[in-house]
Amino acid sequence: MLNQNRSNQLFERAQNFIPGGVNSPVRAFRAVGGKPLFMQKAKGAYLYDEDGNRYIDMINSWGPMILGHAHEGVQQAIARALPDSLSFGAPTAREVEMAELIISMVPSIEKVRMVNSGTEATMSAIRLARGFTGRDKIIKLEGCYHGHGDSFLIAAGSGALTMGTPDSPGVTRGTALDTLIAPYNNLQAIEQLVSENKGAIAALILEPVAGNMGCIAPQPGYLQGLRSLCDREGIVLIFDEVMTGFRLAKGGAQERFGVQADLTTLGKIIGGGMPVGAYGGRRDIMDFVSPSGPVYQAGTLSGNPIAMAAGMAMLSYLNEQTDFYQQLDAIANRIVSDLKEVLQQLGLRYTINQVGSMYSLFFTEQNVIDYDTAKTSDTERFGRYFRHMLEQGVYLAPSQYETLFVSAALGEQELQQLKTASYESLKALNRA
Ligand SMILES: *Cc1c(COP(=O)(O)O)cnc(C)c1O
Repeated sequence: MLNQNRSNQLFERAQNFIPGGVNSPVRAFRAVGGKPLFMQKAKGAYLYDEDGNRYIDMINSWGPMILGHAHEGVQQAIARALPDSLSFGAPTAREVEMAELIISMVPSIEKVRMVNSGTEATMSAIRLARGFTGRDKIIKLEGCYHGHGDSFLIAAGSGALTMGTPDSPGVTRGTALDTLIAPYNNLQAIEQLVSENKGAIAALILEPVAGNMGCIAPQPGYLQGLRSLCDREGIVLIFDEVMTGFRLAKGGAQERFGVQADLTTLGKIIGGGMPVGAYGGRRDIMDFVSPSGPVYQAGTLSGNPIAMAAGMAMLSYLNEQTDFYQQLDAIANRIVSDLKEVLQQLGLRYTINQVGSMYSLFFTEQNVIDYDTAKTSDTERFGRYFRHMLEQGVYLAPSQYETLFVSAALGEQELQQLKTASYESLKALNRA
């Protein structure tokens, strides 16, 4: 058994003063059972908890640590920026460089606005789409996560594709009514929604590769189909690339799949580990943002100099490396082929989905293409697998419905440990 005495003590204290003991729900480990581990430090591929246990990190702060932890370039950029003060609330040269860099990496972005989180980016993007089109409704896909803005916390009402019900108390019915829900990877369902709400839909927002119901790829032609539908109907197509941006390619999923969005939301990697988000896209739409246009959006700490220093260092590194993404994908390919080999050795037929450096092992034998098929997974079994993996020194995402994030810091030794840990963990499950 892992020694997690100090983590447990901290969790006890935290629960007195922080709701559920954590500042973001999934960290509490409720989906997998057991108590959360409190992290003390990290370097490269490894996390160290408060009890001194070491883990291979397969979450990497939910994506940002794509180069592994405490990457020297990023750390040094922050150290260099530090003496010049932490914030001005006035424009800086770094913000201009950052905007130019983002635009050079993501072809569909002609103008960009910096914010402080992915949630802020998506909330701002739909307000902008509404202001630009003069329409109220948005379409969101089942199982896609776009942060905790009210409009996105909506699940499908049973069979009622045209009327969402709030997913969380505190989200008003009025808000829910403006969010229409359709299943992922189903073009026909969206065509139907659009024809039933002719001229009323401002935006269609989706994760171009889903990562928040486990990893799910868009089926061939799906993104292209959405693109032409949005063109035909004057709907703003928003790719939420908070997770996929700068991960699946320099230009994100849209580069990888060859489909351009009207607006793109970014987060996670863009801050190199600091709290940063951004939204950007077509010039005519972005010019609707205040102060050049009427749609209000602001932020006291937006474009923060330290955050920009970290983000710039991260993005420049990704931009300048040749073959970075081929190498990262090769690491992920190796992990997935090892895992497939392990499954085969144990006679298991679970589903593995992978797109580039994102992948998921689903505890189901069905193809996972949308929320309904993802839900066929045996989450209790996943929970036990998760805890076995922890015991073996591997820190997975504490939920079946989260993708794993491969970092460039994983080397041969880590890959071998990962394979052995998977084998032992899945074997132990099978025996039980
Ligand atoms: C993480 C995530 C968000 C929310 O970003 P935060 O920085 O946590 O607010 C939005 N969309 C997607 C696709 C995400 O993965």
